[in-house]
Amino acid sequence: MARPPRPTWDRDSAFFWEGLEAGELRVQRCSECEALRHPPGPMCPGCNALDWDWVVSSGRGEVFSFVVHHHPPIPGLDPPCTIALVELEEGTRLLANLDGIAPEEVEVGLPVEVEFHRVEAVEDDPGWVVPRWRPRS
Ligand code: ZN
Repeated sequence: MARPPRPTWDRDSAFFWEGLEAGELRVQRCSECEALRHPPGPMCPGCNALDWDWVVSSGRGEVFSFVVHHHPPIPGLDPPCTIALVELEEGTRLLANLDGIAPEEVEVGLPVEVEFHRVEAVEDDPGWVVPRWRPRS
């Protein structure tokens, strides 16, 4: 199977990707009002503060919404596959593949947990880690 497109790293999102490498799902937190936010950005949408750090998520949440992707072909995806928007216990939402369950069995509210999936290195590319969801047992 072809490799998926490499995600973009920038100074606002590097902590997220580095967290995945470390086996942590990190959520950006405003240093002023402590609001959590995802996707990462330079400024708090609530109080406009520029300082931030992050917290480590439990990695648990529930399916908030999902789609079953059939077409068009996307490198690294083996359709049909489920792409789920999951609301984490911390309150932010994160979009990722949902594995380990047939697409027709997925429903809103399904309890899931994160797992870390490595895109293997090749030649001049060191690979990277992406989050994926699995049903929670
Ligand atoms: Zn804030």
